[in-house]
Amino acid sequence: MTKETSTLDQVAKWIRPEIKALSAYHVPDSGDMIKLDAMENPYRWPDELVDQWLEVIRDVELNRYPDPGARVLKQHLRESMDVPDESEILLGNGSDELIQMIMMAMSGKDRAVLSVEPGFVMYKMIATFMGMPYIGVPLKEDFSLDKAALLNKIKETQPAVIFLAYPNNPTSNLFDEQTIRNIIETAPGVVVVDEAYHAFAEKSFMPMLTEYDNLLVMRTVSKMGLAGLRLGLLAGKAEWLNEFDKVRLPYNINILTQASAEFAIKNRQVLDQQTQQICVDREMLFKDLSEIENITAYPSQANFILVRVADGKADGIFNTLKEQGVLIKNLNPVGGLLANCLRITVGTAEENKALLENFKKAL
Ligand code: PMP
Repeated sequence: MTKETSTLDQVAKWIRPEIKALSAYHVPDSGDMIKLDAMENPYRWPDELVDQWLEVIRDVELNRYPDPGARVLKQHLRESMDVPDESEILLGNGSDELIQMIMMAMSGKDRAVLSVEPGFVMYKMIATFMGMPYIGVPLKEDFSLDKAALLNKIKETQPAVIFLAYPNNPTSNLFDEQTIRNIIETAPGVVVVDEAYHAFAEKSFMPMLTEYDNLLVMRTVSKMGLAGLRLGLLAGKAEWLNEFDKVRLPYNINILTQASAEFAIKNRQVLDQQTQQICVDREMLFKDLSEIENITAYPSQANFILVRVADGKADGIFNTLKEQGVLIKNLNPVGGLLANCLRITVGTAEENKALLENFKKAL
């Protein structure tokens, strides 16, 4: 037996079958392409602000562990995200880590995770990592919640946790508030309303935390212009969060993230202006895309636009754009309601213009 085969045999024997069956979450290398695939804010800070930030970073003691409870940062986040006084806060290395912590604390073969399809892929992936059954309830054709199907599935499967992204990724719409309330009232476990795109939407479940004991609201600073910091926030009842906190690795929010996020929140008006600009440009891009024949652009409450192109065209358009140096997300391979769909992050006005020109040529 060659060395290589024996390693493969050992891997086959020891790696959990459900992990072996997965493909790793693939983040394409964008090089110097126009990057419209990952819902980032395209803007940097003005030089003056960068200089002030570097002054803050200069004093950070890298030889010390960070504050394990990130107390100062939590207070800043509480105020800037309007977390109700009665609610507790838990921080994660991105909201991805919070999703992982919630499931780690609840996992079990007979404890299901429920969400909608199409929805954010990490809910299903992390459920698989944790060995939890995942139930994806299809959205309706117009990407709204199928209330009857959802309530029936919840009653039937009694999921430990339900995730709903609000606005939803990749469909960019806000679900009906009353239906989400019905879900929270029917759920036997917790309901996580994932507000990753809150900065671009007009509605939030944050104030509803005082009404429901089983509601958790999740936010991230990633889409506000701080994706590189990796910082997410979960708000809800202390009784739940104290349990999730037990599976949190010590010092999960590093010292540079704590110092930089505190600084960024103090200078929030810069991020807010960028967000407003993105919303204005989103409407322009939506209008321009809507005028193109044979494609459907879906209205967005987030910083990206989902488009459906003519049958069989999506892969070709995606590849042509890529050759022209514009990277978007091809959702056609996912199939189902996402067949023939492409997801475009709103970039700067110039980037959007380049996207549009190349998109029209690629059709
Ligand atoms: N939730 C949703 C709905 C998302 O789309 C994303 C990222 N694309 C995340 C959570 C994760 O965000 P992060 O880990 O950057 O906080």
